[in-house]
Amino acid sequence: MKEIYFHICAIPLFTMILIVCYSRKMTKGNANRLFLAMTVLSLISTVADLIMVILSYQLPLTDAERLLDEVLGYVYLSLHNLTNVVILLFLLSLTRMTSLIQKKRIKFVISLPYVLIVAFLIQNIFTHTIFSVTSEAGYARGVLMPMIYIMAALYGIGGLGYCIYSKRFLAKNKWVSLLCMYLLSYFAVAVQFFKPKLLLEMFCNGLGIMGVMLSVMRPEERMDSMVGMESWKSYREDLRNILRSGEQVAIVVIRLPNSREILSFLGEHKYNDYVSEIGNALRALPWNHPNHVELYFERPGTIYLIVDKDEKEMESIGDRLYAELGIRLQEYAANGVRFEPQVCLIRCPDDLKKAEDIISLGHMFYTFDSGRENTFQAKELVSSRVFAIRSHMEEILKRAIQEQNIVMHYQPIYDVRTGCFHSAEALARIVDPEFGLISPGIFIPASEELGLIVHIGDEVLEQVFRFISEHDLEALGLEYIEINLSVAQCMQSVLPEKIRHLQQKYNVDPRHVNLEITETTFENISEVVMENVHELIRMGYTFALDDYGIGYSSIQRVNHFPLKLIKIDKSMLDEVSSRNGRMILEHTVHMMRSIEKQLVVEGAETRVAVDLLKKMDCDYIQGYYFSRPLPAEDFVRFLEEHK
Ligand code: C2E
Ligand code: MG
Ligand code: MG
Repeated sequence: MKEIYFHICAIPLFTMILIVCYSRKMTKGNANRLFLAMTVLSLISTVADLIMVILSYQLPLTDAERLLDEVLGYVYLSLHNLTNVVILLFLLSLTRMTSLIQKKRIKFVISLPYVLIVAFLIQNIFTHTIFSVTSEAGYARGVLMPMIYIMAALYGIGGLGYCIYSKRFLAKNKWVSLLCMYLLSYFAVAVQFFKPKLLLEMFCNGLGIMGVMLSVMRPEERMDSMVGMESWKSYREDLRNILRSGEQVAIVVIRLPNSREILSFLGEHKYNDYVSEIGNALRALPWNHPNHVELYFERPGTIYLIVDKDEKEMESIGDRLYAELGIRLQEYAANGVRFEPQVCLIRCPDDLKKAEDIISLGHMFYTFDSGRENTFQAKELVSSRVFAIRSHMEEILKRAIQEQNIVMHYQPIYDVRTGCFHSAEALARIVDPEFGLISPGIFIPASEELGLIVHIGDEVLEQVFRFISEHDLEALGLEYIEINLSVAQCMQSVLPEKIRHLQQKYNVDPRHVNLEITETTFENISEVVMENVHELIRMGYTFALDDYGIGYSSIQRVNHFPLKLIKIDKSMLDEVSSRNGRMILEHTVHMMRSIEKQLVVEGAETRVAVDLLKKMDCDYIQGYYFSRPLPAEDFVRFLEEHK
């Protein structure tokens, strides 16, 4: 009896694995399904084998027992060998090599040994050359049984070989546990070879599968369980594997605009429900290959779908989603949440081949102009100059810093009271040898993300201080030059030292410099930022608040911080054509005056706008109406001509 103890232990082991899989909702997706399949197959084969062994203790068999034994023989041999195939498929699916299986030749190679096993089993019904069951001797192996072992060995060797090969695609701990699964099964087969009565194999398989479940099948690592979709991290991982395998897929990026606002409006809990409803609706669309649709979610609000490249009607996915969500959308709309997804279609590897490019396109596609509102085709976007620049941003920035490709332009600022130009803003541009002139609207946010802004900022400071030292500002009619400081610069404790150094190097009077900071600087307020600001003020520098009116501008902050000047963002001026917009601007001007802050309004492009601002009694105006930002020499010439 002792030899069946391991078999008996294997049954609760497999059962437990299944229970854990279901309770952790590991039932969707290819890898999960294959994992479940291999566990279920192992469980059934173990039970079949166990009953067969028990029957062998009570020879001779009755007719019914004999029949049962024979049926179980077929069940065991067919399912146990099928498990080997499923394990191999599971490995392929984990490494996203599923495209391999779709190739006819590979399909043939993978399935051939198993087809032969099935053929052998079928012929066994008539010949009993694989196994036979008699009531006296019970189950007995036949002369062709070694053929089955050879086929099984092919899967074992092939699987182990692929497992070793896949080391490069898998995280180390995952790879080790997959390897252990194979090695344990080899160990059990070896033991059984020498001690055929010690039925160790199924138990060892169970241990192997358990190990894989613990370190490979970790939904908490892959899933965003709050919305029932896979995580952004898994998207990146899968994307890389897909591109490496050469599999052709389509990627649909669905961005929910204003997701941050919707999140704070609905609250975390309801927002998650909202997103998972969209996810469910996406899954419910009539896909040609529903098993090939994987959903991923990136917070706060982007859904990625990886689907079969042959899926039709992808262009209309936004509309189809509307139709699927139907009535639910009306409920959300009634509560103030409008569903206006922006969709981008990327065909891989036709449109893009590099994972980094696909990821970055997913993050910025909506900033391009699309012909069809809200639906973007990667094919069209990737040929644009802006995309080329953005996808080479790091290289461009590093080159700009090393080769000093940053040039400063200066935009004059008009003084309403005197009717003269009274100051100017220094605005950075990159002149790249490959991509030409690049605007700061593109490279400043990118350099902030890439952690290169401080280097850019240092170069800007250097150039502007040099400009001031080389020109007689007062003779040009200028009181000061404004320099934009980014948050990261303000958080450097060495900032005042850097500026003191430049001041001495170029012999610059601090009154000739006005430093522009934005409200985000205050949001990141730390001791260092405040100390820097106060130290620079002690040194004689002044500060302006840039971009007032974007985001959550707060008059409290304006009042509390030592600001000489407030710069009203262009977006506020753009609204003056409406009655409310005009009132808002008027009141803002009035309010700033009453708390004794000087005011610059940015973005005046027309005579009408300038006249209006003059009438509103604001101090200074900056805009294309007077001049665009100009290269240093042109700027000086411009001032001399307009003195
Ligand atoms: P900003 O500091 O708000 O600068 C004003 C922007 O408005 C400039 O864009 C300017 O060219 C533009 N502008 C001025 N008048 C008009 C107008 O009448 N119509 C229109 N449509 N635009 C007008 P620019 O030069 O592209 O700079 C964009 C932003 O990049 C700047 O916004 C600033 O935030 C950032 N930036 C530029 N240079 C630097 C820099 O040296 N350092 C840092 N940290 N940021 C910079
Ligand atoms: Mg500015
Ligand atoms: Mg501004």
